[in-house]
Amino acid sequence: MNKTSEIIAEVQKQGRKFLLEPEAKAICREYSIPVTKFTVAKSPKEAVEAAENIGYPVVLKIVSPDVVHKSDVGGVVLNLRSSEEVEKAYQQIIGNVKKHKPNAQITGVLVQEMAPSSTEIIVGVIKDPQFGHAIMFGLGGIFVELLKDVAFRLLPLTKEEAEEMITEIKAYPVLKGYRKTPPADIPAIIEILLNTSRLVTEHPEIQELDLNPIMVYTKGAKTVDARIILE
Ligand code: ADP
Ligand code: MG
Repeated sequence: MNKTSEIIAEVQKQGRKFLLEPEAKAICREYSIPVTKFTVAKSPKEAVEAAENIGYPVVLKIVSPDVVHKSDVGGVVLNLRSSEEVEKAYQQIIGNVKKHKPNAQITGVLVQEMAPSSTEIIVGVIKDPQFGHAIMFGLGGIFVELLKDVAFRLLPLTKEEAEEMITEIKAYPVLKGYRKTPPADIPAIIEILLNTSRLVTEHPEIQELDLNPIMVYTKGAKTVDARIILE
């Protein structure tokens, strides 16, 4: 059994549907979808060790099967630059989660590389009862939320379709670069779309997938938050 099947089987065995961020990112990594470096820490000391291995600045996040939206419970602290800041953020996150959700089971705290700000894109997959899996692509923030500027295709996706999805959104000129915004690595986005298609096609038990946001650079890209929901 490959690693992705193992992770999914373990989640199902535990009676869960939502994958934890480290589980979802481990699966992404198996499919060559670029994600931030990460380690799950179980103590402030482990968090500092992880941060030193990854390199500052880092981000700390709650890992809990009972917390789906991590920021809503004070479970995300960005831009930590020293061991002191990491230790403090660890305690702060545990404290915040215990306050907001006293019964939440806490798996640990995710220590991850802080991705530099850049153009943000979103890749999603939903499963329609009639049409099956569809993949969505758009730019992050107001482009998706306010302007609904997104492209959809059914899976499996071809390279031509991936290219079309990128060029057909209204915000495409943003990806090509303008004024102070450098051009985004469009071949890297195409790879992400195709690898996401392959992942869900090979694991149709995935009901929903959300890579939001993915930072896209002039060279390469990095997924900052990944969610996977099983049927
Ligand atoms: P939530 O469960 O609340 O969606 P996220 O993991 O998406 O939590 O974190 C909230 C926000 O913090 C993200 O949308 C992103 O703007 C920022 N963020 C999270 N992780 C990173 C990271 N590794 N590097 C840079 N920014 C990050
Ligand atoms: Mg998020």
